[in-house]
Amino acid sequence: MADKAKFQAIKGVRDILPPESALWNSGEQTAREVFGTFGFAEIRLPIFEQTELFARSVGLDTDIVSKEMYTFEDHGHRDIEFARKFALNTERYLKPGYPFGMERFLQAVDAFVDAVEGAFSGDKSLESRANKEALLEIKQATSQMWPLVTPDGAVTNEDAFRSFAIRIVFRLQSFHFENLLTLRPEATASVVRAYIEHGMQVQPGNVKLYYMGPMFRRERPQKGRYRQFYQIGAEVLGTSDAPGIDAEVIEMLMTLFERLKLKGTILNINSIGDKNCRPAYVEKLRAEFEKVREQLGADSQRRIETNPLRVLDSKLEHEQAIIEKLPRIGENLCDDCRAHYAEVKRQLDLRGIRYQENWRLVRGLDYYMRTTFEITAPGLGSQNAVCGGGRYDGLVELLGGPAATKGIGFAIGTDRLILSLQEAGEGAAAGGPAGKAGGPDVYLAWFGAAAQTAAIGLAKRLRDAGFVVELPAVEMKFGKSLGLADRLRARHAVIVGDDELAAGIVTVKRLSDGAQQKLAEPGLMLYLRA
Ligand code: AMP
Repeated sequence: MADKAKFQAIKGVRDILPPESALWNSGEQTAREVFGTFGFAEIRLPIFEQTELFARSVGLDTDIVSKEMYTFEDHGHRDIEFARKFALNTERYLKPGYPFGMERFLQAVDAFVDAVEGAFSGDKSLESRANKEALLEIKQATSQMWPLVTPDGAVTNEDAFRSFAIRIVFRLQSFHFENLLTLRPEATASVVRAYIEHGMQVQPGNVKLYYMGPMFRRERPQKGRYRQFYQIGAEVLGTSDAPGIDAEVIEMLMTLFERLKLKGTILNINSIGDKNCRPAYVEKLRAEFEKVREQLGADSQRRIETNPLRVLDSKLEHEQAIIEKLPRIGENLCDDCRAHYAEVKRQLDLRGIRYQENWRLVRGLDYYMRTTFEITAPGLGSQNAVCGGGRYDGLVELLGGPAATKGIGFAIGTDRLILSLQEAGEGAAAGGPAGKAGGPDVYLAWFGAAAQTAAIGLAKRLRDAGFVVELPAVEMKFGKSLGLADRLRARHAVIVGDDELAAGIVTVKRLSDGAQQKLAEPGLMLYLRA
């Protein structure tokens, strides 16, 4: 007999089961509440975007883009690809002496034009300037070629026909499909894309958005590191880069962690300069690394070329002494960046927020500048960063938006946040809906058809009043039914049988101590509430 396939979640992804999911919900709900009080509103983003969006924003030299993205081809354009191949194939009809009519080439090209125009309306990524120009030229050529075709399919001026055809073939070949899509590895690029796409810069003041949801990176899975993981993030976009914004964003984060009773967090901050001062610093670093290249590990050696700042992230034991002797960004900031950083720190002080300066905190993604920060939490082992963030003033312009736009944001790793709360025994114990995971308020045991009808009505009224009610779907023997109530860890069993129905009451049994009483419905409500 053939083995039945046993399905398992794939490596690096996982299910979040009850009761843990309740902790997730309450964590996310608290984030909504806290962020709301700071004037942030939720943006719901697509899970996949054009690959190019991430390639351009996250940066080609980052690990994410070079090896961690889940990228796939969108087969939505198969019809166009097919029409193009078909048209190119019919080029043979143009050869002198070919037994079929030359107009077949034209028909195939028209079919291609139809396919492209159909796709244009639905897919902006196809509508690049080059594609539009190519399409226009193809259409102009065909409109001049059709009059050369006689009703019986012959062509009156074959040379002219062929020279138009050559141009068409060239354009067909140059037509470009940008149909690579990627599961989002992070959401800042999407927020910025949406900000630009919807012209949000016209909104008064700063645009303050938060998001939550899954992200995808093909990393080596370990505790606190998954291939599908979750983030709760927020972004501030607008014309101001006032350090008070940086400090308030951090204050919002710390408020959330405090509200969630996440203890032992450490806030690390740094400034990594901007496009005026960072390039010179990076060159300095590169020169220093060249001197010690042979002593560095393979990853770091590669990063000397691609992204020297990332070497500062290294956790390799033997690289630490080398890194400690390197020139520090703090001593290489331009005056503007230095002043900005000093003011961020003063603004944090004003808010009573404690921080550690960490000159090696550079963040993995290319688009960060000036303020960077990271928050670590206990109980997470080596993957102890629960949140990362920073300023990214050039990103909006990089993605085609208004040049003056500034941005700052952060992303909390929800998996790690929950893990840290669990390690500390917090969260579920801190109340909220997670408490309900303990078991239903009421197990509604009914006996007999008439009692079932009454129980269905009572269950509805109890649920409307906010109680968690378990109503057995089939009739059970008394002992079995009450046994199930115990195993479900219900707080009360409410019993409806013929006697109760006749008397217009129910029997309530408190399962912790077996205390039992008979109550009419208003009394039951009061009793359960107490
Ligand atoms: P990043 O977008 O890389 O700045 O990451 C922000 C936060 O997301 C980190 O501080 C982590 O808490 C979390 N994070 C990033 N990658 C992963 C992953 N593979 N698994 C779980 N959490 C992650």
